[in-house]
Amino acid sequence: MLDPHKVQDTQFTARLVNGRVIQPQRELPLLSQCEVLVVGGGPAGVSAAIAARRAGARVTLVERYGHFGGLWTGGLVLLVLGHIVKGGKQVCMGIGEEMMQRLEKLPGGIINRGPGKNPTVDAEALKYVMVEMIEEAGVEVFLHAWGVDAILEGNTVRGAVFESKSGRQAILADVVIDATGDGDIFAAAGAEFEHRTHNVGLVSRIGNLDRIDPSRAPAGNRPKRLGSPTPAPGVNWVNLIGPEVDGLDVRTLTRMEMSHRKFIWRNVQQARQVPGYESLYLVETAPQLGVRITRVLNGVATVRYADLKAGRRFDDVVAVGGSTDGQHGEWQVPYGALVPKKVENVLAAGRCISAEMQMADLVRLIPNCCATGHAAGVAAAVAVKDRCSPRQVEVPKVQKILREQGAYLG
Ligand SMILES: Cc1cc2nc3c(=O)[nH]c(=O)nc-3n(C[C@H](O)[C@H](O)[C@H](O)COP(=O)(O)OP(=O)(O)OC[C@H]3O[C@@H](n4cnc5c(N)ncnc54)[C@H](O)[C@@H]3O)c2cc1C
Repeated sequence: MLDPHKVQDTQFTARLVNGRVIQPQRELPLLSQCEVLVVGGGPAGVSAAIAARRAGARVTLVERYGHFGGLWTGGLVLLVLGHIVKGGKQVCMGIGEEMMQRLEKLPGGIINRGPGKNPTVDAEALKYVMVEMIEEAGVEVFLHAWGVDAILEGNTVRGAVFESKSGRQAILADVVIDATGDGDIFAAAGAEFEHRTHNVGLVSRIGNLDRIDPSRAPAGNRPKRLGSPTPAPGVNWVNLIGPEVDGLDVRTLTRMEMSHRKFIWRNVQQARQVPGYESLYLVETAPQLGVRITRVLNGVATVRYADLKAGRRFDDVVAVGGSTDGQHGEWQVPYGALVPKKVENVLAAGRCISAEMQMADLVRLIPNCCATGHAAGVAAAVAVKDRCSPRQVEVPKVQKILREQGAYLG
């Protein structure tokens, strides 16, 4: 482990040998050992960790940033879509719904809640709720630690390796849930996946919307791109779609951050030039870039558009998703969509589960990520209890616990 007070022993420091950079082999110190390790603390990871812990497993959750919520909070994606179906019924329940119920009790936590509606949350309130729920559940947490490798024994995952200010450390686990959104851990473990491109944007918040006077703006010259209301008075969140690029390429990510930031700043300054809009200001750009889809697991089963159209029901359903605006009915996630084809002891949760491209834009919506995270957490806990690989869990047991924990399975 790195000791910040001591001069480092350089025996394991990378070497430049004949123009190539070589990392010496070394033994890693153990940071922790648990039954269920969840990597990534977004909507899927937080739901997974709480579910697994409530189902009786010892759980460790590791997140690369300093807060929970992933794109939902750090990405300022505040609008909750995808949990209602035609007719207005809400289908995403369970831990994600519990988060929203808790937000309702906090002043300024959530707006537009109610049957058939798509609510908007406050990011800080949600970060607070997630800390509260994680602590109540008794999950061990490491923040500021980046999952950089899987630990393999044969083709079985035995844990993951993390980089942090404490250096490179290992966590051993019976089952690992990859909730990184990008499949970082299942990819490192050699699981099959599809590498997709998608739009990469950057969300921002602008303020003083309650002080503008649109009647003073010249006709046809009102600023566009002023976003939608949030629970904070006079503050809107502004989505930015961005170009379709590779969200795993560090040069691209850097370029996106810098160009989006300039665009957002200039856009707000331009709006301020319009009479009546002088008091508008940029509250913040999201600390987390808006990467939508990158790696998607090739699972034992796949979420398919034809199944949505046919209203297909699966015996091994572990989650149910809805629509963005009540356009269609519910669709089901079979357990196999979380399970890699070959590698053992790792499950996917959230936006990187196995799904056709046509379904990816539904699968990745926040409530659906909470639902697949919830499912992965319970399945991992059942695997630990029954001492089997997640591939072999008895799905009816998982379904029973999910229902007891408030999930809706159709
Ligand atoms: C611009 C944009 C607009 C969107 N608009 C909407 C919308 O209006 N409504 C809606 O419902 N959804 C929307 N979405 C989709 C939704 O926000 C995401 O798909 C959802 O948050 C995904 O949840 P997740 O938990 O799977 O992944 P994420 O939210 O990406 O969370 C992954 C977490 O894992 C952490 N992590 C990643 N890699 C590592 C690692 N190697 N080690 C440790 N931690 C790691 C991340 O820091 C993050 O906290 C939008 C997405 C974007 C980008």
